[in-house]
Amino acid sequence: MILEEPCHPLRLVERAVPEPGPGELLLRVRACGVCRTDVHVRDGEVRGRRLPIVPGHQIVATVEGAGAGTTTASGTRVGVPWLGWTCGQCRFCLQGRENLCVRARFTGLDIDGGFAEWTVADERFCFPLPDGYGDLDVAPLLCAGLIGHRALRMTGAAQRLGLYGFGAAAHIVAQTARHEGRRVFAFTRADDLAAQRFALELGCAWAGDALAPGPEPLDAAIIFAPAGELVPAALRALDRGGVVVCAGIHMSDIPAFPYEILWEERSVRSVANLTRADGRDFLELAPQVPVRTRVTTFALEQAEDALDAIRAGGLEGAAVLVP
Ligand SMILES: [Zn+2]
Ligand SMILES: [Zn+2]
Repeated sequence: MILEEPCHPLRLVERAVPEPGPGELLLRVRACGVCRTDVHVRDGEVRGRRLPIVPGHQIVATVEGAGAGTTTASGTRVGVPWLGWTCGQCRFCLQGRENLCVRARFTGLDIDGGFAEWTVADERFCFPLPDGYGDLDVAPLLCAGLIGHRALRMTGAAQRLGLYGFGAAAHIVAQTARHEGRRVFAFTRADDLAAQRFALELGCAWAGDALAPGPEPLDAAIIFAPAGELVPAALRALDRGGVVVCAGIHMSDIPAFPYEILWEERSVRSVANLTRADGRDFLELAPQVPVRTRVTTFALEQAEDALDAIRAGGLEGAAVLVP
């Protein structure tokens, strides 16, 4: 499924099986998670270096071939995340902050991704996947899980955690946060009773309207929904010293707000991409929790339907394409 032009539907095309170059693995795709970022790419809100592009950056695949210099055995199951390549030489790479690499290339944006039967990926950016997860269940860990985990780390030791938008990422973070002994509050659209019920099922202490303060002040909030008005809403829900972490790649404009709600050392920050260390940490932690994902599957050629479902909201857990 290729994106030829932003704001136009993805199109099903037949292509030859790609050839892995040096350092690359040839992968047969078993499943590929669909992320809100894929919606932003499709809708032209996030733009990469080339078109057409095959979207998809939560790829579960088996190795079926390899280019020169690789060591992964044929038949190994691997996961391919959003971070597809980094330069290793810029000031960020040298500081262990490869998520901010100035020359980074991202899977499904700059490099063909997993909305396909076959793909190739740089071996150095593929993760081994934990046993005990099926191909469909493990797919959402690769972005919803990873980015959510990086965002959770940005909240430090916050005990009272608010999650704004209860989709693919929040349903995973809620589980790891509970595992770490935190109390989790789910903030959704006021009338989204299904999401609120789902959040309570996953151990959240409370679920309710995102635009109103919760039952008690929060130490941290993570915003997954791409709605700028949630930033002042989350600031208003914070206790002094708290942090609002914006975990999405794109958000509508943040409305002006009074300084008073930032005062007392509250802060607002974003979280961008992932490092390979984040991936290793999270994929080790997930089976210990154990994180259980809720997925809705779509056939590869239904990629547009999956994107529509995420755009509309109301999907319980994560969407996964199956080729
Ligand atoms: Zn770099
Ligand atoms: Zn993603």
